[in-house]
Amino acid sequence: MLETFALREYLSEMLKLCRAKYDVKGSRSIRIVHFVVAAIICFLGWNHLVAEDLTNFQSSGNVTLKRLLEADTEPGEWLTGGRDYQQTYYSPLTNINKTNVKQLGYSWSYNIEFTTAFEATPIVVDGVMYTSGNRGKVYSLDAKTGKLIWKFDPDIDLTVLSQLCCTDVNRGVVVWRGNVYVGSLDGYLYALDASTGAVLWKVDTIIDRARAYSITGVPYIAKNQVVIGNSGAEFDARGYVTAYDTETGKQAWRFYTVPGDPKNGFEHPELKWASKTWDPDSRWDMGLGGTVWDGMAYDPELNLLYVGTGNGAPWNRNIRSPAGGDNLFLSSILALNPDNGRLIWHYQTTPGDTWDYTAAQKLVLADLEIGKNIRQVIMQAPKNGFFYILDRKSGELLSAEPYARINWASHVDMKTGRPVETEQGDYSKEPKLVLPGPLGAHSWAPMSYNKKTALVYIPVMDIPLVLSAQEQNFSYERGQSNLGVTVTGFTAGGWLSQNAAPNLPTLDSLTADLSDLQPRLFLTAWDPVIGRAVWRNDITGEIDPSLEFYRRAGGVMTTASGLVFQGGADGFLRIYDANNGSSLHSINVGTSMLAAAMTYLIGGEQYVAIMAGVGDYDGYVDQLYGKKGRIVAFKLGEGEVPQRKPTQLTKTKIKAPTVKDDGTTEQISHGEALFRGHCAACHSTGRAPDLTRISEPTRAEFPDIVLKGIRASRGMGNFSALLSVEDARDILAYINHLTWLKFQRQDAEGAVQ
Ligand code: CA
Repeated sequence: MLETFALREYLSEMLKLCRAKYDVKGSRSIRIVHFVVAAIICFLGWNHLVAEDLTNFQSSGNVTLKRLLEADTEPGEWLTGGRDYQQTYYSPLTNINKTNVKQLGYSWSYNIEFTTAFEATPIVVDGVMYTSGNRGKVYSLDAKTGKLIWKFDPDIDLTVLSQLCCTDVNRGVVVWRGNVYVGSLDGYLYALDASTGAVLWKVDTIIDRARAYSITGVPYIAKNQVVIGNSGAEFDARGYVTAYDTETGKQAWRFYTVPGDPKNGFEHPELKWASKTWDPDSRWDMGLGGTVWDGMAYDPELNLLYVGTGNGAPWNRNIRSPAGGDNLFLSSILALNPDNGRLIWHYQTTPGDTWDYTAAQKLVLADLEIGKNIRQVIMQAPKNGFFYILDRKSGELLSAEPYARINWASHVDMKTGRPVETEQGDYSKEPKLVLPGPLGAHSWAPMSYNKKTALVYIPVMDIPLVLSAQEQNFSYERGQSNLGVTVTGFTAGGWLSQNAAPNLPTLDSLTADLSDLQPRLFLTAWDPVIGRAVWRNDITGEIDPSLEFYRRAGGVMTTASGLVFQGGADGFLRIYDANNGSSLHSINVGTSMLAAAMTYLIGGEQYVAIMAGVGDYDGYVDQLYGKKGRIVAFKLGEGEVPQRKPTQLTKTKIKAPTVKDDGTTEQISHGEALFRGHCAACHSTGRAPDLTRISEPTRAEFPDIVLKGIRASRGMGNFSALLSVEDARDILAYINHLTWLKFQRQDAEGAVQ
């Protein structure tokens, strides 16, 4: 043992020297030397992981199983979206710490034109950064200088733009053994050469292109497979994940998260028993949802792939599965065997979900001391407001405590593992104010598990919304958002979208039990073991009621030196003390941020980098700094971030509209129905521009924008397959009507703004 240990150390050092000295791109002789050395090691029967590492050595994008398993011995690397296979968004680096963080300043930036928002966290391997922009565009940069090495554009089929719930974002890439994998918005999975960006293979992951599928999520590596899901459960998608061979792209297996129509049989045995949790007359034609659009994780030691599934399609369960039932596997955490795609265990966070309470949020692996035992756990803060800890080997529920204001359930029964629903959550008979609203108490924005403080830092949203059932006149329309629910927002100042739901009772009557109507954002430091917040910062900032949408809390990264990094919609990167939440530093980046930051080491210097860029989507910084995205890197030094024409947001009274409110009653009401089905998901939520504020020239171009796709480059799809010229005219008539209503309401209320 002693000899092999010495040999191991020696070879490990030698390998490091080789890498440093001969950073030869794909040099054949170096590979042969590595192979021979590896063969000798294998012959000696010694550490197979090292042997694997050597035989698979790549000069670029060299992420291997060994490096992932030993990620803490390479604190300067950021090997996956969340840095390690546990997806902690935590770095062991301490070069930047509480005593010097005030000197953290600008190092470099790389400009990326973007359409909507950045949600990806860059990966840095051996000094090279890999990350994605909108639609699955990929960028490889020198992480020391920000100089572009290569970029890749999937050149998507633009028809997908007309059927997106949540714009054309992409949450990142995965790097593995010399390859970079990305899912494109139009549903293809690409394997790229990490050295050049050349396409090695491309597969179509979509089972039915007549349905509204898209990809916004990150692919994950499980053993020698790359696994990808998709989005579209606001429309008519049937959820599934597919595993492909990392080298060839050949499909290994596919796991459907919901059954198809039982009359057609079942693709795999789990669906047979899952189908018993559905009404036999469920809306099989609508796909039923359960899409895997964000969180997954792979534990190489247990050889289990964890998958988070999304909401039902349609949201309203009384339409989806009228006789009720849990509707497996909606809103669940699944543990799959990556060798064959079979289910090992599952836990459903929201049985019979009817609130868009996805459990697709990021999954974090940790070893926690619970009841005097160290438990291997998986943690998630899904939209429904409960923070879950499960034994990740068995799926046993260990804890489920509310991390946000909740009124749809009183608690989770630890005996049954089920939430106990309340009257307040049941909107089937009358509109109800529900907490959390469908935006979730937490969505895709990464939370961070800090191994030093043993706390989880969660970007929390406290945004109540009013849900009204739409069962009377529900009809399934292809290419439309088919929720079966109307969602209406408000602030302490009143309804946000006056016309979002017809015949709503007064806001007062719906909010009698709620002391605080103001939507708020928090950064919460959560102790997972005792199940409560240790500290909580209100990061709401200024919400301008005239904007008619909500801002969201940005992703979080933490370090071993006790720092918590979070970007803000107001363009500031803030750094807090992990122990108590006190503010240590804030940097004016000048560009709105939602993505989580990351950190890495080059030449002994620690860098922090973040993808900054939120346009019309979720932020008002578009109005402050222009629609310009960039990756910004920081290191210790005094540099200020170069700004792009910063201007202050001014609150101006709405002027009397110049446009006429001259649509007929029929046109306006027809336009309103179409607006709800095709436009509201983006344009009433802040994900796309508030159409009551569009300029005269834009109004004139309206038919071409809607029917010819002339704004496709900015994220607005071509709706000509779904809408007629008359439809577009009526939608505009409704928008004009709404513009006048807003103006009149402002006057009636004595100037909202
Ligand atoms: Ca959803």
